[in-house]
Amino acid sequence: MPTLYAPGAAKATQGPERRLLGIRRRRCHMPWMEDWPTGRIEQASPLVRRLLAPNPSPFTYSGTQTYIVGQGEVAVIDPGPDLDEHVAAIAAALKDERVNAIVCTHTHRDHSPASRPLQALTGAPIIGCAPLSLEDDGPRADAAFDPDYRPDRILEGGDILSGEGWTLEAVATPGHTSNHLCLALREEQALFTGDHVMGWSTTVVSPPDGDMAAYMDSLSRLLGRDDFVYYPAHGPAIDKPQRLVRGLIGHRKQREGQILRHLRKGEGEIPAMVAQMYKGIDPRLHPAAGRSVLAHLIALETRGMVIEEDGQWRIAA
Ligand SMILES: [Zn+2]
Repeated sequence: MPTLYAPGAAKATQGPERRLLGIRRRRCHMPWMEDWPTGRIEQASPLVRRLLAPNPSPFTYSGTQTYIVGQGEVAVIDPGPDLDEHVAAIAAALKDERVNAIVCTHTHRDHSPASRPLQALTGAPIIGCAPLSLEDDGPRADAAFDPDYRPDRILEGGDILSGEGWTLEAVATPGHTSNHLCLALREEQALFTGDHVMGWSTTVVSPPDGDMAAYMDSLSRLLGRDDFVYYPAHGPAIDKPQRLVRGLIGHRKQREGQILRHLRKGEGEIPAMVAQMYKGIDPRLHPAAGRSVLAHLIALETRGMVIEEDGQWRIAA
């Protein structure tokens, strides 16, 4: 579940909905990145190709984008959902190229499951984020995760993957999920952002695995970088990305302020807060919005600012 915005619903309420979510449609200066068909490989830059999976939904926008980095010797980033059509399209795009690594940013089911059929086809190692165990009934259990993900190598922040003409560096970005990684392509000052930063929507941060404090820290980490362009897993490429990241940080701080104002008025139930805070969005997205509100409340609780009793949140005395 990466996102909190339904493109279908947005057709009727595009402007207000985007404003309520704190995101304005960014003018993309790369017209070839705006619209594209499923299953057709597109050259985004000299070293980057992308392929859209046929899995559009209210939570995936037009679908998951798989990126191929390099020429001849390549890495495949976010192979996507395990759909025969998509795996066949990746294989067709690769032709006789050598796959050095199948890289996963995180293990939501729209990102990592195709790593296995792609490994069966290419023999390439699966390298990337850490797995999340569903046997663990603690804070990491989440139905949207891919429990069968088995990486051959786990990347930590700063770890390097390389091939002929390209170097990818892992950037640890927990928050959307605890195991989320971005990948920086040094030769093009590009960052593959997975679901951490997207241009079309804010990211859902859903406890217990999603962590708002970690997410904010991971946004700040990106501000310290000099990336020229972001390639998200959903939606168009983002140029001038630091401006968007500053906007996202401001948006989350605004949400936190809204929550505190509700609590000061004695309004401490999440559904009631969501109804006020997300007026105008498709009600089908309210549960996802509620997860992000809960993530804010948990972050405030950790800072000793709020407490919860029987589902009622209030300002700490
Ligand atoms: Zn995700």
